[in-house]
Order: sequence, then C-alpha cells, then structure tokens
Amino acid sequence: MSAPDFVIVGGGVIGLSVALGLAREGASVTVLDAGAPGQASQAAAGMLAPLAESGCPGPFVRMALDSLRRWPSFVAGLREEAETPLDILGPGMLRVARTEAEEEALCAALDWQETLGLPLHRLDAAEVRALEPAVGPDVRAAVLSPLERHVEPRVLLRALADACRCRGVRVRAGVAVTGFATAGARVTGVEMADDLVSGGQAVIAGGAWSAGLGRMLGVRLPIQPLRGQILALGPQTPLPVRHTLYAHGGYLVPRPDRRIIAGATEEHAGFEARTTDAGIGSLLKMAATLVPDLAGAPLHSSWTGLRPVSADGLPLLGRVTGWDNVHVATGHGRNGILLTPITGSLMADHLLRSIPPPPAFDPARFLESSLCPSP
Ligand SMILES: Cc1cc2nc3c(=O)[nH]c(=O)nc-3n(C[C@H](O)[C@H](O)[C@H](O)COP(=O)(O)OP(=O)(O)OC[C@H]3O[C@@H](n4cnc5c(N)ncnc54)[C@H](O)[C@@H]3O)c2cc1C
Repeated sequence: MSAPDFVIVGGGVIGLSVALGLAREGASVTVLDAGAPGQASQAAAGMLAPLAESGCPGPFVRMALDSLRRWPSFVAGLREEAETPLDILGPGMLRVARTEAEEEALCAALDWQETLGLPLHRLDAAEVRALEPAVGPDVRAAVLSPLERHVEPRVLLRALADACRCRGVRVRAGVAVTGFATAGARVTGVEMADDLVSGGQAVIAGGAWSAGLGRMLGVRLPIQPLRGQILALGPQTPLPVRHTLYAHGGYLVPRPDRRIIAGATEEHAGFEARTTDAGIGSLLKMAATLVPDLAGAPLHSSWTGLRPVSADGLPLLGRVTGWDNVHVATGHGRNGILLTPITGSLMADHLLRSIPPPPAFDPARFLESSLCPSP
C-alpha cells in the first residue's frame, strides 16, 4: 500500500473533520486512534452554542459564529456521504438568570451579542415560564437564542467516520502512536508498537493527549485535560423542557429519545477519566434546581470526557514550530463539536493551499517557550 499524503493522529471530531476536508479534495489520508475514536468527542453534550461561553467579542467568537453558520451545509454534505443520518436538533437555547447579578451579566452580554447577527430575544420571568413552564421558581429572566441548537455527538462521530470511509480515508482504531521517525526537520513516519505508517505530512489531533505527542518531537504544545462529568436522565414522558437550558452552574439538553443530558463538571484531574459520586451528585442537584420536576428522575447513565484545553483557551491550528511537515489541530476545549466544520475547512486551506488559519490560533504564538528538550 502506498504511503498516504497525510497521517492524522487522533480520530475524534477534530481529526476526522480534518481528514474529511482533505479527502474531499482528493488527498489520501490515514487516521490513527489509540482507542475507540473520540475520547472527548463521544462524551460531549453536543451544544452548538457560540455565545453561551463567550465573555467578550474576539477571535473565538468570530470562529465560533462562522462554524455555527456552516453547520447546515456541513450536515447536508455528510448526508450525501454517510449512512448515519445526522440532524441539528431542538428549538434552540434559553440562557437563564436566577440572581440579580446573573441577570445583569446576561444583559451586559446581550449588549455586544446583539450586534453579531444571531436572533436573540430577551425574556422576562413570565415569558420564560410561558415558553418552559417547568423551570424553577428562581428563574427571573432569560435570553432565547433559537439558532444555538445541538447535535448528538456520537451520531456525529459515526457520520464523520462513514463519510471519511466513503472518501477513501483509512481509519484505524486501537493503535497508539508511540513516536515519530524523523530525518532532519521532517517526520518520515508515525510509529506504533509494532507498525510504522509513512506519510507526506503528519497532523497531531490527539485531543487532551496532544502535549504528549508534541513531546515526542521535542515540541511544547500547551494542552491540558479538563475533565467533564456528564449524565443522562430519563427517558422522561413527557419531556419537561424543550429548549436547552443553560444556567450558571450547568445545562440541560433535552434529546429526541426523551433523555435529558445534564452537564458538566470542570475538573483538573489529570488523565483520570472516571466519574465520581461528588460529580454526579452535583449534576443531579443542578438539574433538580433548574427544573424541579427532575428531582428523583431516574439516572439513565453517566460518563466522562477529557477536554483538550490550551494555555490561552484558544485552539492551536497550523504548522508545528521547528518541523517542516508536522501540523496540529487541537485545544478546542469546551467547544470542539461546535468548531468541527470550521476546523476541517481551515485545516484544508492550510494544508492544501498554504492559507494560514487566523493568527490567534497559530501554534507559534507559544514560540517563546515552544521548544523543550526531547524526553
Ligand atoms: C462533558 C463534555 C461536554 C462537552 N460538551 C460540548 C458541547 O456541548 N459542545 C461542544 O462544542 N463541545 C463540547 N465538549 C468539548 C468537545 O467534546 C471537545 O472539544 C472535542 O470533542 C475535542 O475533540 P478532539 O478530536 O480534539 O479530541 P478527542 O475526541 O478526545 O479525540 C482525540 C483522540 O486522540 C486519540 N489519541 C490521543 N493520543 C493518541 C496516541 N498517542 N495515538 C493514537 N491516538 C491518540 C484519543 O484516543 C482520542 O480518541 C464537551 C466535552 C466534554 C468532556
């Protein structure tokens, strides 16, 4: 078998979106994943919510809004290539305020968010209850954002894998990359315990493990795991809420299968990807406070994922400093599902047409401290 043009390490939504973007333009691509592809990706709630976690305007919001706008055509494209049908779900998001300070923060954010072109509607307590009668008595205001909807991340992963296969991408699961074969400033192959894949260019898309992959090349990629515990309640008949509810301290995402996803914790726990009684307890309490009807709802399942978070909170997209043919796409933190379409597109521009991603995401911004001794 001839060497692929690109070898991508990591088969989460980011690695697969990069692979698909390249393969759609005729490149040959191999994706290697140490486990079942998508450690963080399969754990996500799937919200497509650029404004929920944006404190101020800037490069992140621009990228996130661009990605949100691309979602309908991204789904349409996947539907042509994948057997697994993916849908954008729900009637949108209600960001709720339950204290005076939260209401002030919601209004302050609305002042700049209203200029961005997304429909946003400020609701008082009575209007919130007219829309979602089951919310708790302490809800005093909300912003309704009908276009901030959600997808089912595990369906997205399957659809991406289908589409990649349809475009000839070789996706190999259960193969851990252990090192890189090099010649001068070039990587010539990607090493596993008992195999080596040669390739023209390597892309590190290893999620929370990207720093370790960088260390194999003597490069500092400042990415840390941020553990998120998350759970599903139900199924509930009828569903007590229709909108995604996003509040200080957590969120609830009602799914078409009548489960309600309640997320998520944020913990610096290294690579320990397990749930804890305290974490699950806090999510159950959050859910029951936000929607009292959920008190005592059956716990369907719980799980955990490791978000890849960069030192400045922004993704790393582009060439890796010091290497001619090594690139990185990681650091999507809490928003990798939302950012899937734009990441595939920016990386295809970078890798196939030498159009660099926006400077805010250039891995070289950490240049001062980017080189560290090889282990
Ligand atoms: C609880 C939770 C809720 C979330 N909710 C949302 C949400 O609502 N909306 C949103 O947009 N985002 C959400 N996110 C964030 C989103 O899930 C991540 O940003 C995104 O999945 C990151 O994708 P990734 O492909 O970079 O990483 P991953 O999905 O973790 O994929 C990286 C892959 O690299 C592989 N890998 C690592 N090292 C090696 C190696 N040495 N060899 C081979 N393979 C390797 C791993 O096995 C892994 O499968 C959430 C995350 C969590 C944890």
